[in-house]
Amino acid sequence: MSEEGTPQEPIKIPDHIKNSPSAQAPPGSSQQPPPQQPMRKGNEVFGGSSMSQVAHKQNMGRLDDDIPDETIPLPSKGLIYPEGTPLHMMQTVDIRVMTAKEEDILTNRALIKKGTVITELLRSCMVNRAINVSEMISGDRNAIMVALRITGYGSDYPVEIECSECGYKHKYSFTLAGLPIQSLEIEPVRPGVNLFRFQLPVSGKVVYFKYLSGLDEDDISQTQENMRKQGLVNDNLITTRLKYAIQRIEDVDDKILIERFVGRMRAADSHALRKYMDKYEPGITMKESVTCPACEHTEKVVVPIGLGFFWPEE
Ligand SMILES: [Zn+2]
Repeated sequence: MSEEGTPQEPIKIPDHIKNSPSAQAPPGSSQQPPPQQPMRKGNEVFGGSSMSQVAHKQNMGRLDDDIPDETIPLPSKGLIYPEGTPLHMMQTVDIRVMTAKEEDILTNRALIKKGTVITELLRSCMVNRAINVSEMISGDRNAIMVALRITGYGSDYPVEIECSECGYKHKYSFTLAGLPIQSLEIEPVRPGVNLFRFQLPVSGKVVYFKYLSGLDEDDISQTQENMRKQGLVNDNLITTRLKYAIQRIEDVDDKILIERFVGRMRAADSHALRKYMDKYEPGITMKESVTCPACEHTEKVVVPIGLGFFWPEE
């Protein structure tokens, strides 16, 4: 690997990111990628990924070939997307890196108000326009968002962290390229269906659940927001999410009956189900161990992902 373009600060950026055309540019400093960027051969956005060796993509014969494509591993491996749709059984998805157009999306007030910025951003970056980003599960969407952040602004993501032990606030830099990808390891009831089977330990009932899509997540946020506006507080987010996730209990798929069941589910069953769902949820592990410089307390911190993700504070 060439040493040219190595940043001054002692931040450890993997070589493939170091050589990224826009990785060295501070956020907001360039509205457009420089013309005639050297094309990357590999697309190993995620250093920690065991899937980073998959699929090299050649960018050939396209009008906009000065904007490089990236091939991103899909944590779901496409196993849950229906036959006949573009992501069915796809291990990877091709995206375009962010340009001025995507920066416009990120600052579009109407989209921010509607809460659909991320969906629009993802849609804008898909090479295959037939992909329905709303139907993608959160884990796959997160993988793409992290990849967009890395290729757009670099892998280094500084945030302010407050120590839960002593309250000391300090700056900490997450290395996004190092976040591990968790691939889908459990089998859906059949390939091409977002449906998984789990037997509740206490009642013995068999439930079928799905992993939530972007659309489900937006729906839940919207409902939460509406309740908040009416002065209601929904402190049952866990139950709400379960109601969205559970599709069938034994042979009952009636929504109202499922909601009633979830509302009265035994704590041990609910806990076991959620634990199972979390454990196997495909996506990016957005947690890192951080040690407080003041008291040396170490804790797992969730990497905050959201709009601020693309507009890091300096
Ligand atoms: Zn502390």
